[in-house]
Amino acid sequence: MKQPGTCARCGRQLTDGTRLPVIGLIGPECLRHVAPLAAFIKSVDGVCATEGDQQSVKTVHHLIRVVSSMGFTYRLTDTTRSGKRAKCLTLTGISRKQLKGVIKSYEERREEFARELQAAAELNALQAPKADAANADGMAA
Ligand SMILES: [Zn+2]
Repeated sequence: MKQPGTCARCGRQLTDGTRLPVIGLIGPECLRHVAPLAAFIKSVDGVCATEGDQQSVKTVHHLIRVVSSMGFTYRLTDTTRSGKRAKCLTLTGISRKQLKGVIKSYEERREEFARELQAAAELNALQAPKADAANADGMAA
């Protein structure tokens, strides 16, 4: 996991950086600054909006607004979950703002995200692989 390169937060040359998903290489002194953001990324990444599940569609739409306003780039992947069409959110990087700006933006706004994060965590738990349930008929997304 340790590797040389440039710290994504402070730009310092590193001999022992840690590579984090989406964020990139981070030096040991900057790790604690990015830890909350890394946790945020982990809980948001991979959340899916499933056809007929209005709560998941609402949550993913809101998360997309949040992550793009923070400066993340993302993509939506079409997939099928339990026989229903779904779109899954993947964070691909950080654009427009520097990482420090994204960290600051997250720190300033995390309260505001608490509800969506909770919803995302519940979705992630619900969306863990499970047998096809006899779902009530939902509306097409
Ligand atoms: Zn650094």
